[in-house]
Amino acid sequence: MQDSIKAVLQLSKEDRMVQSSHKLLNSFPDKKKHLQEPLAKVEHQILNYKNKIGTYTQQIEEREKLVLIEKEKIKKSDLKMQAVKNQKEYAASQKEIETVNKIIKRVEDQILELEGQKEPIEEKLNTITVEYSEEKVILDKKLEKLVEEETSVKEKIGIYNALKKELLNKIDTDLLQKYEKLSQRKIIPSAIEISAPNCQGCAIAIPAQLFNEIIQFSNGVCPHCGRLLFYKKPKPVEEKPKTKTKKKATRKTKTAKKGK
Ligand SMILES: [Zn+2]
Repeated sequence: MQDSIKAVLQLSKEDRMVQSSHKLLNSFPDKKKHLQEPLAKVEHQILNYKNKIGTYTQQIEEREKLVLIEKEKIKKSDLKMQAVKNQKEYAASQKEIETVNKIIKRVEDQILELEGQKEPIEEKLNTITVEYSEEKVILDKKLEKLVEEETSVKEKIGIYNALKKELLNKIDTDLLQKYEKLSQRKIIPSAIEISAPNCQGCAIAIPAQLFNEIIQFSNGVCPHCGRLLFYKKPKPVEEKPKTKTKKKATRKTKTAKKGK
């Protein structure tokens, strides 16, 4: 029976630790997200800049093609001019070339303007990319540390679970049933030791009559939360300060002796 109680108390402690470990484990995704958030914003901005640059590049390329086509037209017009038969045809060809040249000039102006708009964005992208790479190194280290922590918590849970299996075998069926009812209801820790008339689980004061019974039978149940309570004789009061005063006393006597 004593071993069974010991085991259930130990199990209760383990369950509590597993519970807090699980809580901790559940907090990791949020922690990761929180760490990644600032850089995710920068990533979004980088993408935004790249898209803008892409659009400008496309618009510039389209216009460059147009310029080539128009220049091709001039070549043809030049050839035509060489074969003109009269002044009228000459004038017509010249007008054609002038119109095309105007188009080319307008499109080239557009290209210059687009390049002028693209350039500052490219500069911004360069600056932000450098900053990003530096921040990314720091973030990766932080994430690595977090993953290490996560792994260690998982390992702890594994150890607890192994220990739990061992402890379950040591607990009497009757006691285990009561215990499991409580832990299923998430009343954790489900079994606790008390030395004073209050439940350490729900913090309620235990009526004197009931506490006397708990002392008498070494165990009982909290009337409020239903936890399994086991009586533990209180430790002799304040042992440590006593030894301290003793030491002081001996020191005093020593110095006193020295003095003599
Ligand atoms: Zn209680």
